[in-house]
Amino acid sequence: MINRARLIGIGGQTTAEMPINSSERKAVKMRTYEEKEVVLTRMERLPLSVTCNKCGKTAGLQGEDYEREWGANEFQRFSLHFGYGSRYDMESWGFDLCEDCLTELIRTFKHVPDGFGQDCHRAKYPQIMFEKWKETGIVDLEAGMTPEEIAEDGGSIYVDIEEDE
Ligand SMILES: [Zn+2]
Repeated sequence: MINRARLIGIGGQTTAEMPINSSERKAVKMRTYEEKEVVLTRMERLPLSVTCNKCGKTAGLQGEDYEREWGANEFQRFSLHFGYGSRYDMESWGFDLCEDCLTELIRTFKHVPDGFGQDCHRAKYPQIMFEKWKETGIVDLEAGMTPEEIAEDGGSIYVDIEEDE
């Protein structure tokens, strides 16, 4: 079966009328592909050592990649960027603190940092929990709660659930 199609050229004028048969109506695949598994190699920067800016403690990181990552995780990297209006306008700072120095610093805080002491459990009274931690070093997510409040929450999270026998 023969169809006629108009080919529209630049400027919209009809340049030709040409016959198109049905096999030509299918789009021609200009590129065809096969799937093949390839292995990519990428370069990673692994920590060799970390030094605390405050106390100068250095951890040399050795061993497997995960051991080095764990060692590096005992330090926290801080990145600060100062904008207009700051006394450090346009400066960018970076420093590392070991967890001992970080703990010492956080103990000087008046207000509890967001997320402090909380993992899958959340403190009902974060500020009371924080004050208790500053005194004792113990995170008690139930700090400030009455026995009734703990019972309403389904019991203490610090009681081991006894298995039925
Ligand atoms: Zn330190």
